[in-house]
Order: sequence, then C-alpha cells, then structure tokens
Amino acid sequence: MEKVVIIGTGCAGLTAALYIARANLNPLVLTGLMPGGLLTTTSIVENFPGFPEGIDGYELMTRMQKQAERFGARVQFATVESVDLSKKPYSLIVDGEKVEAETIIIASGAGHRHLGLESEDLLEKKGVTYCATCDGALPMFRNQPLVVVGGGDSACEEATYLTRFGSVVYLIHRRDSLRASRIMAERTLANPKIKPIWDSVVTEVLDVKQDKVTGVRVKHLKTNAESTLDCAGVFVAIGHVPNTQIFKGVVDMDENGYISRKEGSQTNVPGVFVAGDCSDHVYRQAITAAGMGCAAAIDAERYLAALSQ
Ligand code: NAP
Repeated sequence: MEKVVIIGTGCAGLTAALYIARANLNPLVLTGLMPGGLLTTTSIVENFPGFPEGIDGYELMTRMQKQAERFGARVQFATVESVDLSKKPYSLIVDGEKVEAETIIIASGAGHRHLGLESEDLLEKKGVTYCATCDGALPMFRNQPLVVVGGGDSACEEATYLTRFGSVVYLIHRRDSLRASRIMAERTLANPKIKPIWDSVVTEVLDVKQDKVTGVRVKHLKTNAESTLDCAGVFVAIGHVPNTQIFKGVVDMDENGYISRKEGSQTNVPGVFVAGDCSDHVYRQAITAAGMGCAAAIDAERYLAALSQ
C-alpha cells in the first residue's frame, strides 16, 4: 500500500512530491495525460521567483520533477480512472490497475475552457487550438491572419507569441478592456501586429464544409452586428475548467467543480488533501500552486504522523 499518492505533476503536484519525498515517504506521483501540467505549454515564465531572466515553462517543470525524484519521488506516466474513498485504505484505479493509498493529494489542475461552439469542436486540430506554444509554428499558420479569443494574461501571451508567425493577430475580446495584468496588457496593445477587436464574440468558426479554418463569424455585443474575419487559425484562451470530474459526488466542490478546502488543504474526506488550480479559481499562479502543494504535503505528513501515534 502507498503512504501517499499524488495526482498530478504541475507545480502543485511536483512541489508536494518534493516535500513528501524529503519526508522519506516515497510518494507515488501520477502524471495524468499532461506531464508537467499546463505550464509546459507556456513559453517564457517571468514571474516565478528565482529566475530573473525568466525560464521556459517546460524547463521549469522538468527541473521540478528532477528535484522531486532526487529525493525519492516515483513519477509514473499514468491516469487515474476512478477513486473509491468510501473506506480505508482508499483505492484508485490507475490505467486499469488498483492502487491502495493511506493518503491522497489531489493536484489534478485545470484544462482549457472551450467556447462551446459545434464548429469549434469539429475544427479542433484543423486550425482551432488551445495552445500557441504547441501549435503556433505549424506551417498552416505562417504568414496568415490569426485569431486569439480572450482578454486575460493567457490571451495576451498567446497573441504576442503568435506575432512571430502570423501576418496579423486579431485579439477578439468580449469586453472593451483587457483583464490581463497591466504589464501584459500594455505590451500586447503596443504590439503593431496585434489588432484588438473589442466587445465581440466568435459565434462560428468557418469553415466546417472545407474541414479547415478559413475564418470566424464575429458578433459585436453592443450593436449585434455580425461580420466575418478571414484567418487560418483560432487560438482559444478563455480560461480553464478544473480537472475534477472523477471526484464528483465524492469530494466536496463548488458549483464550477473547484474542490473545496476545509482547514489548510484538507478536503471533506479525511486524509485527502488538495492543491493548485483544481482548487483555486482566484490566484491560479505557478507560485501559488507550488505553495499550495507544499502546504498539502505538510498536512499529509502530519496526518500520517498522527495516525501512527
Ligand atoms: P482568465 O484570467 O480567467 O481570463 C479569461 C478571459 O477569457 C477573460 O478575459 C474572459 O472574459 C474571457 N472569457 C471567459 N469565458 C469566455 C467565453 N465563453 N467567451 C469569450 N470570452 C471568454 O484566464 P487566463 O488568461 O487563462 O489566466 C488564468 C490565470 O493564469 C490568471 O490568474 C493569469 O494571471 C494567469 N496567467 C499568468 C500568466 C503570466 O503571468 N505569464 C500567463 C498566463 C496566465 P472577461 O474578461 O469578460 O471575464
């Protein structure tokens, strides 16, 4: 039986792994489908303390994993399919195999929110994408007009990154000002290749019949006027949804699926702790997720120590 199973290898999961490993508890750390989490899809991370020149997101997560492994964390590329928290030891089905655990730290992160359009789904990977760093350099986007949807830091980051490849980048946002941090917003709006389109939403991605992105239909929310914009790619950057579906009905969560914390990182299930974006819709930073991972590890360690007394 495992003493601690950590679900997720983003900043929260790997920081928890580091602390649990250094407490000699030899954690099993399960990556899910995206080892390293969402930060691996970011280009440069400029706000993680300790890296004055910034650090590539993938590089940061690789280093975190190495650091945790150095102290004995066992990182396994595997996905948790279901959990049974009704009795101890807790059990998890991991890629078809049963794993038993005394404590669990949920650090399953969050995934990209979709616009919710049928055409968006049908054209995913055919010009619709959720990650500029992953897909921006593809030949289909080179020297073509591109669209980014959203008004937060992610949208600004994606739009700025895409100016390397696209002929012009339209930033379509449903309000008339950006939600992004001031430095990101100013940098974005000062970029001559980025053209903001305010107060507007994408109502359809074109063209499903041609089986590739050729443009978007855009609605202006103040005038209701509809127009069409030619583009070769649509990069959706409108926030995230927590990866907590397998805990539904078992672990308490809010109406949006973010796992609720009681004291510190404790969930409603004794011995099950939570950290990072799957529980935080307020701060959602690499450094806050790492801090929550540290707290969850300390809570789990104290819980195990109390059990053995
Ligand atoms: P976010 O801050 O939640 O912004 C989401 C944006 O998408 C908002 O502008 C929102 O509009 C818009 N939106 C949401 N649902 C929409 C819909 N259905 N249709 C159209 N637009 C929609 O998300 P984020 O930009 O992914 O950032 C998440 C967190 O990560 C933030 O805390 C951010 O600071 C952080 N982050 C930091 C960095 C960095 O510092 N390098 C980079 C990326 C992300 P409204 O404005 O109208 O709500």
